[in-house]
Amino acid sequence: AAQTMEQLVSLCKRRGFIFPGSAIYGGLQGTYDYGPLGVELKNNLKLAWWRANVWERDDMEGIDAAILMNKLTWRYSGHEDTFVDPMVDCKACKLRWRADQISGKCPSCGSTELTDPRPFNLMFKTQVGPVPDPESFSYLRPETAQGIFVNFKHVLDSTSRKLPFGIAQIGKAFRNEITPRNFIFRVREFEQMEIEFFVRPGEDERWHEKWVQDRIDWWLSVGLSRQNLEPYHQKKEELAHYAKATVDLLYRFPHGLEELEGIANRTDYDLGSHSRDQGSLGLRARVSPNAHATDKLTWFDPDSKQHVVPFVVEPSAGVDRGVLALLSEAYAEEQVKPAPAERLKPVEEALATFLRSAARNEKLPAAAKDAIVAEGERIAQGLGERLPSIAGLLSLPGADGIEVAKKLRGQVDPVIDEFYRTVLHFKPHLAPIKVAVLPLKKNHAGIVGTAKGIRRTLQATGAMRVVYDDTGAIGKLYRRQDEIGTPFCVTVDFDTLGEGKDAALANTVTVRHRDTMAQERVAVPELEAYLREKMR
Ligand code: ATP
Repeated sequence: AAQTMEQLVSLCKRRGFIFPGSAIYGGLQGTYDYGPLGVELKNNLKLAWWRANVWERDDMEGIDAAILMNKLTWRYSGHEDTFVDPMVDCKACKLRWRADQISGKCPSCGSTELTDPRPFNLMFKTQVGPVPDPESFSYLRPETAQGIFVNFKHVLDSTSRKLPFGIAQIGKAFRNEITPRNFIFRVREFEQMEIEFFVRPGEDERWHEKWVQDRIDWWLSVGLSRQNLEPYHQKKEELAHYAKATVDLLYRFPHGLEELEGIANRTDYDLGSHSRDQGSLGLRARVSPNAHATDKLTWFDPDSKQHVVPFVVEPSAGVDRGVLALLSEAYAEEQVKPAPAERLKPVEEALATFLRSAARNEKLPAAAKDAIVAEGERIAQGLGERLPSIAGLLSLPGADGIEVAKKLRGQVDPVIDEFYRTVLHFKPHLAPIKVAVLPLKKNHAGIVGTAKGIRRTLQATGAMRVVYDDTGAIGKLYRRQDEIGTPFCVTVDFDTLGEGKDAALANTVTVRHRDTMAQERVAVPELEAYLREKMR
């Protein structure tokens, strides 16, 4: 797993997973753009969720509701009044913070001169229509859930569903977070994968427990490890006003143990809030009187011959937080083979020079100096295994200002390139690219033609994304595919053409496995079935 967020940010930018939004104009805080590999990874995650929660269940329907909704939705959902975070201003440096995320001190300038917290509504307001009428506005949805609630009756009537059943949706949500931070963990524009699961009152607690377990199992199925995933049962005083119980699934992100998904028992609050004639419904939840709704969001129970307002269990996950968790879990820096002493010697010398220079540096604050020297000495003791840690050493505060830092970098980088690899151990069904077809020689017409043909055939199955790459020597190409998490490389060589030493290898290719780096020969006609089997 990744040790620091910097490892992920840097890999994501270098290889084209995720870029900072609007970078050419200095950026826009709290926005990120998914690049060529990021969009594949994110789509694969969403597809895996949709398959498991819609296709493979008998009790679920999907929808895709509009982001813009009638603004009354947000009045009766409670968001206009209560979707707020407590905000404080620093009187010294004028920056603003979320009061519950700082501890009485401005994280930027350290001043304790803060204003009292005041509520800040996180919804983005937007004008709807060309007339600048103060009433013609709505909000960008801050969650996808409300699009499901207002469509409850439509789905019920068009599908003849009975309780229990659920509605699933994946889509964008927007929150004007006071302090977006931690890469794609807290952003202002993100995606959610939400389920509203409707059950008979009285069956809600059992379904809530079941959903918590289902959701944990699903996150394990996409590759998160159990020790990095922690269910947290919210205490009574932490619960949202409408919730009877909430379990957060926390994940050990590089920046700490934080919420990946929330699974709430929301009782009859939502359907009750968006209904007319609320007095006739026997609601358990306390809702605001609704003067505008045109329908009652109820289900007619043919057994009891009564109209019921279903209780709702809501598993709500963040797609971007899911992507971050997958990247973090999959990330590894591994030694491929031990570096011989003569290759380590120059690094050892450069490191010693660097540490002497750090110790003598008068501009460096004592604490920074101690940290650099201590880390440097720790690395020096097991240099061979700890080479990649030099990147961490060089990113300590003040380290890059030491004059021989560049020299150390220059010594260590080529050794790392040769003896280490960065690899993303994605489960195959999530990997952005499933197969890379590589020619052993890029100027050989027979090899190139065969490789391109295999790439086309595999791609035509529609079952996987397959790429052809001839932009380097084979070792370098393997490393590049490791770094982006491609589970299989297929190499075409002279044996494939029947021009090698062993005639029996004609019409076979080398399949190289990302995780073990093991290689095996597979006959070309069997390749598709072989890969499909491994990908299941
Ligand atoms: P937090 O306490 O971290 O702000 P929340 O409890 O407000 O999150 P919910 O309203 O329960 O979050 O939203 C459901 C899910 O949507 C969260 O579990 C998270 O995965 C995702 N999510 C919420 N806010 C953001 C955000 N600003 N950026 C990225 N994902 C988010």
